[in-house]
Formats: sequence, C-alpha cells, structure tokens
Amino acid sequence: MKKMIVGNLKMNMENVSQRDAYCKEMCEVFSGIHTTHTLILCPPVIYTEYFCRAFHNTSFAIGTQDCFWEMYGSYTGNTSPKAIHSLGGTHVILGHSERRTHNHESNEDIVRKTKTAIRSELVPIVCVGFLSHDDEMHSVHEQVGALLAGLSREEMEKVVIAYEPVWAIGSGKTPTSDEIHTMVMYIRSMIVQEHGKDISAGIPILYGGSVTAENIDETCMQSYADGVLVGTTSLSPEKFAAMVRGIS
Ligand code: PEP
Repeated sequence: MKKMIVGNLKMNMENVSQRDAYCKEMCEVFSGIHTTHTLILCPPVIYTEYFCRAFHNTSFAIGTQDCFWEMYGSYTGNTSPKAIHSLGGTHVILGHSERRTHNHESNEDIVRKTKTAIRSELVPIVCVGFLSHDDEMHSVHEQVGALLAGLSREEMEKVVIAYEPVWAIGSGKTPTSDEIHTMVMYIRSMIVQEHGKDISAGIPILYGGSVTAENIDETCMQSYADGVLVGTTSLSPEKFAAMVRGIS
C-alpha cells in the first residue's frame, strides 16, 4: 500500500554548507532506492528554492513548514503560499504543535492558512493532536472540528491530516499501534459524519512522533495510518532511507 512519508527538517540547518551536504547525501543515498511511496521533504523556508532544484528529477517532492494566510500584501516577515508554489514547492505543513506553542497559532489561524494554501495549489498537511495525553481526544476533536467547520467539502478533499501527540514528538516514545489506530479512526469518523464515507476514505491521515526504521511497522503499517511525519529521523539520510526501506 502506497504511503506518504514527510520529513520535517525544522530549523536544523543553520548554514548553507550543512544544507548542501544534506542534499548531496540524501540524493546519493536515494539514487539506489526505487520506491512507490510519496516522499516529501520540508526544509526551512529559506532553502525551498535550493531544495526544489537539488531534488528535481528525484522521487522527492518539496514542501515548507508553514505559510501565511494571505498571498500578497503588507505582511512583513510572512511567507506567501503562492511564492512557495512558484518556486516548485508542492506541500506545506500547517498547525505543527511547535508553531501552535511558540507562535500562538489558533485553530482559526490554521483554517485560514489551509484555505489560502489550497488556493495557492499547495497540499496542506495539517497537524492535530496538541496538548497533553489526557485530553488528547478533546484537542483532536476541536482541531479537526475547526477544519470541518471552516473548509468546504471541495477544500477538505485536498487536505492531509497528521495526528501528532505532542508528548511523542522528539521524545523517543510512541503510542501503541492500537492507540494510533483508534485516533486515526476517530478522525475518520468525524469526517464521515460531515462529508460521508467516500470523502473520508480519500483523505490521508498520517501519524507523527518519534518514528524510526525500528518502529515504522508498528506506527504506520499495524496502525493503518496512511503514512508518517518524521522530524529527527529525516535529519539523517541513512536513517530516513532505512525507514523507507522498512515499508517498501
Ligand atoms: C515532528 O517534528 O513533527 C516530529 C514528528 O518529530 P520527531 O520525529 O522527531 O518526533
């Protein structure tokens, strides 16, 4: 089954030498790997153009880690989704828990960004699952509910959802495959209620949080997630490749 594998490189390349070395190594490692899975790398936004060129004609698509809710205008310091698209970017991560925390992004902000990303022909990968383990169901309900209330059916069909329990991000801890499956099915059932089974079945729901080559089978295959969003593992081309091989 074809899976979507998204690498979130976060703010981890602090200079162009690190950027260049990473792209070179990733291209070399993957030159010998033929995969049918969808591979997406999301570097810091400033490196979007370089990544689009470096990974042109490879199996990788390029995305960014955020964009703004307007395409043009007087919004100092923000990034237009239209500009990302014009550079060759195809995807954008929205509502990551680190942005919800450090940039105080609300569900309303994320819905606005999602709508503008879609109008700019980017695929939004919307993260849900913030807050503590105890009230996670409540958080997910509110976050997915905001998307369902704010997006039309046609917009919803273009969204990818990533379930990321905040306690699992970068911690080395993961939920069990049953726990991930329960949350994936819960999100799906919310979409079914609003838009029916066919629309719901077409929306990829990923899992994210401490995914590695060692646990990809449990976190992705056994949980019936449609793919994974990975941070730490995407920083090492060898580890990323081992993880992709794990589901090939
Ligand atoms: C993330 O940044 O979305 C993430 C899942 O990170 P990690 O894989 O390091 O937990």
